[in-house]
Amino acid sequence: MDVIIIGGGASGMVAAITSKRLGNNVTIIEKNNTLGKKLLLTGNGRCNYFNDNMSLDNYYNEHGVSRFINNDNLNKVNIFFDSIGIIPRIKDGLYYPYSNTATSIQNSLVKEIEHLKINVVNEEVVDINKKDKFIIKTNNGIYECDKLIMSLGGSSYPKTGSDGLGFILLNKLGHNIIPIKPALVPLKTDENVKDWAGIRTNVKVDLYLGNKFINSQSGEAQLTDYGISGICVMNLSRFVDKNNTLVINFVPIIDDLYDFIEGRNNKLKDRTIIELLETIVNYKLLYFILKKIHINNDATWDSLNKEDKNKLVDSLTNYKLNIVGTKGLEFGETISGGVDLDEVTDKCESKKIPNLYITGELLNIDGICGGYNLTNAWISGILAGEDND
Ligand SMILES: Cc1cc2nc3c(=O)[nH]c(=O)nc-3n(C[C@H](O)[C@H](O)[C@H](O)COP(=O)(O)OP(=O)(O)OC[C@H]3O[C@@H](n4cnc5c(N)ncnc54)[C@H](O)[C@@H]3O)c2cc1C
Repeated sequence: MDVIIIGGGASGMVAAITSKRLGNNVTIIEKNNTLGKKLLLTGNGRCNYFNDNMSLDNYYNEHGVSRFINNDNLNKVNIFFDSIGIIPRIKDGLYYPYSNTATSIQNSLVKEIEHLKINVVNEEVVDINKKDKFIIKTNNGIYECDKLIMSLGGSSYPKTGSDGLGFILLNKLGHNIIPIKPALVPLKTDENVKDWAGIRTNVKVDLYLGNKFINSQSGEAQLTDYGISGICVMNLSRFVDKNNTLVINFVPIIDDLYDFIEGRNNKLKDRTIIELLETIVNYKLLYFILKKIHINNDATWDSLNKEDKNKLVDSLTNYKLNIVGTKGLEFGETISGGVDLDEVTDKCESKKIPNLYITGELLNIDGICGGYNLTNAWISGILAGEDND
């Protein structure tokens, strides 16, 4: 069977290898000169490609994800990675290649594609039509196939190639696209937070829309001149609209900060507030907070009235950051939204157009940081590639 895969990213490469191993005549059409360009950026250049804890709680979509992310399919991913020679390095359940470089995942996939003599065409697909066969128009020619796998990626990090065309083409072919939003992306504020830029600190963050609680995460945050980033913040970014409040606890390890400061003040004599707290709160952050609530840097705890003491504790444990949006698709590691899962079979085949398969970020599946999004790409690639009817 003639199979064309549009997009040689994570899911497309796996689909191509799986399909070719079953004896098909496989072509990948990839607009970049390199296959798997985005893969090289993943996991800060180390590629966190899988996770021991594949609980569905780590995926956001309420509906239908278990049809794809389940033990049978996870097993196929492990067998696949073993078959291309990847040895994992597992840290806190997160899988990286033992080499600790994303290049080895990308290169192992490329080498297998070369070994299997899969045809790779470096052209940009601009249109698709379905007659008896699929007719694929690129910037340089026209291709035909019996089975088409669409692996163009979503619309996050467009500089790696995934610019959203997949959704336009699928919509034209009759698919419903759940609205796309950036996910796993830093958050922006309209407050002047330039002075906290560069601080990394452990936090608990609670996202609100008005008075409505939306989501809570904990971990290390990176404070930036535009707002806030870090895995815990990115994990709740898919819920952000234009006007949210992020309530930040900068001292999550202390249950009652007021009592804690009182105790330290009794024990450690003649200390300023900064000296009392700098072993648990970054001193630059303490300067930032004190300035914001108009307390001098050299103030002592005893010199504050009750109201100022409460204000200090509140700013450190209940800091309300006005969020005006995310850094957008350009900086999103993934997206929320995509092709409605009701419109594809358990093998990722379109229910609207037989022999059309949809993989990876094009599907309405997104997970938190930790290898969950790549796992979706691997599974959907394998399922689309192995369905050989
Ligand atoms: C900075 C960053 C870090 C990340 N880190 C991780 C991580 O550690 N763990 C994790 O699980 N996930 C991570 N992700 C998410 C993960 O990379 C994606 O979920 C995954 O790559 C999606 O796979 P895909 O096959 O759907 O799309 P992609 O990998 O984006 O591949 C799509 C391919 O299609 C090609 N294409 C697009 N349009 C056309 C066209 N018109 N013609 C021809 N070709 C086309 C593109 O050039 C691209 O090569 C990260 C993402 C980013 C941006």
